[in-house]
Amino acid sequence: MKITDAPDASPTVDASPTVDAPPTVSAPASISAPASVLERLRSCERPPVDPALAGGLREWIEDELADAVAELPPSVPRVSVAKGPLTSVLLCEAHTLALRTDPQPVTREIALGSLVDVAFRAQVTSGLSCAGDDPLAGPLAALAVSGERRDSEVVALVASLTRRERDALAVEVAAHSAIVERHWQRLPGAWLPRTQDRVRLPFAGGRVTLAGTFDLVLGAPAAELASVCIVEVKSGKRRVEHRADLHFYALLETLRSGAPPFRVATFYTSGGDLDVEAISEDILTATVRRVIDGTLRLCRLAAGSEPERTPNPLCPWCSELATCAPGQKSIAAREEAPGLGASPGAEASWG
Ligand code: SF4
Repeated sequence: MKITDAPDASPTVDASPTVDAPPTVSAPASISAPASVLERLRSCERPPVDPALAGGLREWIEDELADAVAELPPSVPRVSVAKGPLTSVLLCEAHTLALRTDPQPVTREIALGSLVDVAFRAQVTSGLSCAGDDPLAGPLAALAVSGERRDSEVVALVASLTRRERDALAVEVAAHSAIVERHWQRLPGAWLPRTQDRVRLPFAGGRVTLAGTFDLVLGAPAAELASVCIVEVKSGKRRVEHRADLHFYALLETLRSGAPPFRVATFYTSGGDLDVEAISEDILTATVRRVIDGTLRLCRLAAGSEPERTPNPLCPWCSELATCAPGQKSIAAREEAPGLGASPGAEASWG
């Protein structure tokens, strides 16, 4: 397993096709025995907790949102700020609005990610393997009873596959699961592992909620030394927004518990790589700025304001493109400029 500690350069946005070509899965037999992921995540100096930090960040967010929320009509429902809408609205408000009226359907790649997530949870909490005659059986059973609409849609999508398509998906899930099993054992209770840890933080009297669901949290929040580590699990390739997602989660944890996580990490089940980053005050303050910017935009959209159209590299995959002059102009300009052509596969990066 390759572990990258505190990389300076952001991962580049993937530019390879993803819809027709599933992520490459390394053969588990070719991987040498890894050191304990748990040890590598936890073996570093833990910074002291600044007891005033979380309160200061919360006050900052409250102050910046107050005016925008005061202008929201009472009939406007609560504005929920999760990692996906945050990334999307900072790219283009018009696209974000379009996604609300026409949500992205569950794709094969989304289904793969959900199934692998379940396999990961089974491994780290119970040491249960999904290997067997039908690698999809256990994950599908778990998704069927989760109570989440999106999970039901995944189950329905798998049920709609042909036998050949289902077999291909099962092979892929088994390969990802084998890599998970190679790198993760059942986690000891002493580390207090929590999976699917849901965080909902109200702001502005409950009119705004910052929300997230952590794939895995290790360690109990402590008042003196940062002691929590958050891990996100990805079945796809590295994407630039994964780093910002983790920073958002670090902020949620800081606001929730009063102490920042000392590390955040993304585990890639396609190859077993683990990107690890230490969390500093600078990262948290930059994330607050990003969250305030995005939340103000989401509030404006919720209030019915005309959305801004901000051309960006993902315009070619936007459902609004046919009626969006700035988007069309941007694409034409990129096609004329050498080296600035559209990046196939970037449609998966809307957040
Ligand atoms: S085409 Fe581009 S600019 Fe237009 S709405 Fe979509 S993302 Fe925004």
